[in-house]
Amino acid sequence: MKIYLATGNKNKKREMQQLLPEHEILIPSDEGIYFDPDETGITFYENSLIKAKALYDIVHKPVIADDSGICVDALGGAPGIYSSRYAGPDFMKGKPDGTKIPQEEQNVFLINQLNEAVKKGQLPEAAYLHGKRSCHYTCAMVLYLGTDRLYVCQETFEGTLIEDISKKAGDGGFGYDPIVFLPEFNKTVAQLSADEKNGISHRGKATKQLKKIIDSLNI
Ligand code: IMP
Repeated sequence: MKIYLATGNKNKKREMQQLLPEHEILIPSDEGIYFDPDETGITFYENSLIKAKALYDIVHKPVIADDSGICVDALGGAPGIYSSRYAGPDFMKGKPDGTKIPQEEQNVFLINQLNEAVKKGQLPEAAYLHGKRSCHYTCAMVLYLGTDRLYVCQETFEGTLIEDISKKAGDGGFGYDPIVFLPEFNKTVAQLSADEKNGISHRGKATKQLKKIIDSLNI
């Protein structure tokens, strides 16, 4: 079955196609559809629903939307829903003109911002509970089948942020993966194979749950 994925991010399309190999995953650009809805929500779930509904209103076919990001405990969960736009401590929600900085700069900013927060102390309680460098990815996924007909799964993927950009490692995955360390694997997320990442990631786990729903509905 054709399932539309409400994103412009080809990395997300690749991961979703690996996760749902029996379906054909299409993103708006595959069919020349202009798609850039305003993500005005304040939670991953709200933004995911906004994207899913916006694309469903264009294609009128099953749509999956994913809204995801990295949440650093010592930064109170930031950058969170602003992860793709994050441009350092002065621009936590992105630059006013909407321009994005390269991922490598985002990674350096995030590590340095965490280092500063740890140095200053006074961290939120969550940072002490899970370790001062703890972070997690979050993924809210909506399967939108029609007006008022939808399913939601939200999952997390825990790790820690490396201490210095010189310790970045791996060239798999995308985004913040080279700077997110997984103590139990002694690897960064970017050092995992695609299958390994999909087996434990926020997106992988959310998709697995959604897949059960897709299979049970026989759509
Ligand atoms: P979205 O397209 O608004 O959902 O933004 C997602 C952003 O969160 C991406 O651009 C990345 O910066 C970050 N992100 C989400 N999932 C991942 C992941 O699996 N690896 C690395 N970065 C991710």
